[in-house]
Amino acid sequence: MRHLPVLAAKPFSCSQCAACCRLVGKVIPGWPVDTQTGACVHLANNGSCKVYETRPSLCRVDSWGVGPAWYQANYDACNAMQVALGIDLSFRVPQ
Ligand code: SF4
Ligand code: SF4
Repeated sequence: MRHLPVLAAKPFSCSQCAACCRLVGKVIPGWPVDTQTGACVHLANNGSCKVYETRPSLCRVDSWGVGPAWYQANYDACNAMQVALGIDLSFRVPQ
């Protein structure tokens, strides 16, 4: 019996830039945001998540999927958000 090759899952290389946390209110209606900054209410001043251990499933990008198309979609979205916010190049997600 022949076995199909199993593609190795490539974990998403989140650089923890917090761009998604800062823009989530613009993308997802109803998300709880800080009225002054527009960022998620759980985003701390140092860029970390105050509820990281219990963050919503939507924030668990590593659990969404695997495979080249999934990685590419996240790569495109994350880096586009970083460009829009003027985030330093050192945070770019690697291909
Ligand atoms: S925008 Fe992408 S790289 Fe930045 S914190 Fe969110 S998931 Fe990670
Ligand atoms: S819950 Fe945490 S990880 Fe999710 S958007 Fe808010 S700050 Fe970011």
